[in-house]
Amino acid sequence: MKNILILGGGFGGLQTARKISKCIKRRKLTELYRIILVDKNTYHTFTPTLYETATTTDLVASNSQLKRIVAFSIKEILDGLPVEIVTGVVTEIDLIGGEIKFETGTALRCDWLVLALGSQVNYFNIPGMLEHALPLKTFTDALRIREKIVECEEGEDKPALRVIIGGGGPTGVELAGEIKNLLRGLPRIFGGDCSEQVMIIDGGPSVISNFSPRIVRYAQKRLTKLGVVTLAGKRIQQVDDKQVILQSGEKIPFDVLIWTGGVAPNHLMNTLQLKKDQSGTRILVTPEMVCLPEPDDLSLATRVYGIGDAISFIDPKTGKPTPGVARAAINQGRVVAHNILQEIFAEQELIRTVRAEQYHPINYPYILPIGGKYAIAKFGPILFTGFFAWVVKGAVEFNYLLSIFKITRAVKYWLMGFWIFIRNDNLG
Ligand SMILES: Cc1cc2nc3c(=O)[nH]c(=O)nc-3n(C[C@H](O)[C@H](O)[C@H](O)COP(=O)(O)OP(=O)(O)OC[C@H]3O[C@@H](n4cnc5c(N)ncnc54)[C@H](O)[C@@H]3O)c2cc1C
Repeated sequence: MKNILILGGGFGGLQTARKISKCIKRRKLTELYRIILVDKNTYHTFTPTLYETATTTDLVASNSQLKRIVAFSIKEILDGLPVEIVTGVVTEIDLIGGEIKFETGTALRCDWLVLALGSQVNYFNIPGMLEHALPLKTFTDALRIREKIVECEEGEDKPALRVIIGGGGPTGVELAGEIKNLLRGLPRIFGGDCSEQVMIIDGGPSVISNFSPRIVRYAQKRLTKLGVVTLAGKRIQQVDDKQVILQSGEKIPFDVLIWTGGVAPNHLMNTLQLKKDQSGTRILVTPEMVCLPEPDDLSLATRVYGIGDAISFIDPKTGKPTPGVARAAINQGRVVAHNILQEIFAEQELIRTVRAEQYHPINYPYILPIGGKYAIAKFGPILFTGFFAWVVKGAVEFNYLLSIFKITRAVKYWLMGFWIFIRNDNLG
């Protein structure tokens, strides 16, 4: 029996597992090929709604209610498919021996390996940031943020609650808008006259500075309207438990500090003898999503594929890496599934020649929600903003749920999320 090992049950890993397993089941090859999906969690994190989770009070939804709509059970997603789910933290990947090892000391052999381990928060070694800032990357991060904000708000009389968000990328911007939304509703809950300051600090020339100038203008206008202060072109040099210190020497006090300033590939990727990109930090893949050994003559025990945030794919048209978005990880997962299935079919003499598929990046559409029922959406050349973009965001999320769940479950989870997040809305 041969093992197809998929590391990571995120957007990319799940797509690969679902596609391969459906085909293996249809072709009645389950006795010959074992598909194993490994994740440290029992759930798949639906990151697009993490900002809502981080800003929903427990009067609106309990932790377990939020978990049901943001952290989907991997077992439920793979229900009925021939995929073995292994829950454990991978600590070592031995590409030469063809084995992965777990924190517990156990190991798993692999004949095909798919690296879909995603990314982790990058603190850029800013002194004090790791110790004093809350990140927003996981479901538990989101819960910590909501607890911290409510705890500060419940505390003794303060002139104002000061929230600083380090990093004005999409995550920082959507979170800032929604924190304003949350804080606006808190006086109704706790009473008193709560005033608040939400500030984004970013080292770039503006918030979301790698987006087009028109989108930056829309985003900035919306943030200003909501009362979010943006401090662009300012680098955070150091952080302590009360204040951030900018490179200019300016000191800005905070009650809550959140860091959304960057991500880096999963640290395990650095340990692998695989080809890296020019920066020497990200693992490169071929258009077939294959990782190559470094040095060239290193003999790997297995064919290694890499997808999603964990790797770097350079778009041949632009010369730039594809962005770390869910849709890219999903598309890459499909390519990998196709290519592994081709190798399996060739091995079983079901086909004569392997026809490998290549990944072609596209201009990924995006929707950026900024506080309440407002979003900025871009689909190809079409840009639209406001309530309609927010509605489209809901439709896109529902479409993803439909792709991983049976229709009844997709409808149930989407409606539960809609009901919770709409009740939490204080901006309109
Ligand atoms: C707050 C936030 C909001 C976002 N919003 C959007 C959005 O609206 N639209 C969009 O397209 N993208 C969004 N993204 C980006 C998107 O989430 C990523 O691009 C996507 O998750 C990448 O998919 P992946 O499969 O590569 O990795 P992930 O989905 O991150 O999956 C990696 C998996 O590996 C597991 N894992 C990691 N280390 C180990 C280990 N050592 N052992 C075992 N398992 C391990 C993790 O538990 C995880 O399940 C957002 C990201 C964040 C943080």
